[in-house]
Amino acid sequence: MLQDFSYHDPRSLAEALSFLAEHGADSAVFSGGTDLFVTIRAGLTAPRHVVNLKGIEELHRLSWDETEGLTIGACVTVNQLVDDPVVQSRFPILHHAGSELATFQLRNRATVVGNIVTASPCGDMSSPLLVHGGEVVLASASGERRMPLGEFITGVKRTIIRPDEIVARIVVPPTWAGAAGGYEKLKRIKGHDLGVVAVAMIRHRDAIRVSISSAAPTPVLLPDFPASASIADIQKKAQEMISPIDDVRATAEYRSFMVNVFIKRLMDSVEAAS
Ligand SMILES: Cc1cc2nc3c(=O)[nH]c(=O)nc-3n(C[C@H](O)[C@H](O)[C@H](O)COP(=O)(O)OP(=O)(O)OC[C@H]3O[C@@H](n4cnc5c(N)ncnc54)[C@H](O)[C@@H]3O)c2cc1C
Repeated sequence: MLQDFSYHDPRSLAEALSFLAEHGADSAVFSGGTDLFVTIRAGLTAPRHVVNLKGIEELHRLSWDETEGLTIGACVTVNQLVDDPVVQSRFPILHHAGSELATFQLRNRATVVGNIVTASPCGDMSSPLLVHGGEVVLASASGERRMPLGEFITGVKRTIIRPDEIVARIVVPPTWAGAAGGYEKLKRIKGHDLGVVAVAMIRHRDAIRVSISSAAPTPVLLPDFPASASIADIQKKAQEMISPIDDVRATAEYRSFMVNVFIKRLMDSVEAAS
């Protein structure tokens, strides 16, 4: 059973933000609802107001600009991202990670921004966006603020978002567009499943960038490596920075082991691609 809440369907960003300025502390916004309604049904959250963002046209924007980069609006679904030709050619690991998220049907509703705001350690979009230097743009009635994704997620299902704010969009700068790379996700089954551990890697010009999910409370972005770094160098730094746990999906030891396996696999594939 869902508990009672009042439902709001704003038609403009200004209308949504003005509502949140007054009622944000008792509200939850949603776009796909694939995380929010699961938590409401489970009694983990009980908002008095539920605000649907999908009626706000400007939040559906997915666009590319040579200077600004890739803009992913709050209501862009994971399937929209996966199907986008610019994403496929310039951000292949966003395309690949998106297609690893749940099922086709779920991806028709689930949004990229919803995945980031949920801030689950195993969220599929976080590590690929982190290696690309993704930034989060927060909007409230008093204006916008922008920050690196790594500063936005602060813990397991925790972010710095205020009750009166929404994430209006994610911006992926053009700097690493076109980089060779990959996303490796370990699942318990061959079908769709949450990640047990995952690694994203890109290599561009003189640098290699790596991020690891499900191996610490937040996704871990390693410091940039020179292109001459060895597999052992990257594995060593990764093992220093992760803090995996034992849980129902895997042991900490297995997660650590698979991080090294994935780093080797990804290094071999980016070598082959360059
Ligand atoms: C069966 C199933 C399988 C799944 N498999 C995977 C998987 O393999 N990989 C994976 O990563 N995830 C998976 N998920 C989780 C979920 O589908 C994703 O996290 C999805 O991307 C969430 O997007 P959404 O639009 O549905 O979020 P919503 O449910 O709409 O929102 C999620 C949270 O973010 C908040 N929120 C949403 N949009 C905004 C905004 N613009 N500003 C501020 N706050 C906002 C909501 O209040 C809520 O707290 C799965 C879920 C289900 C039910």
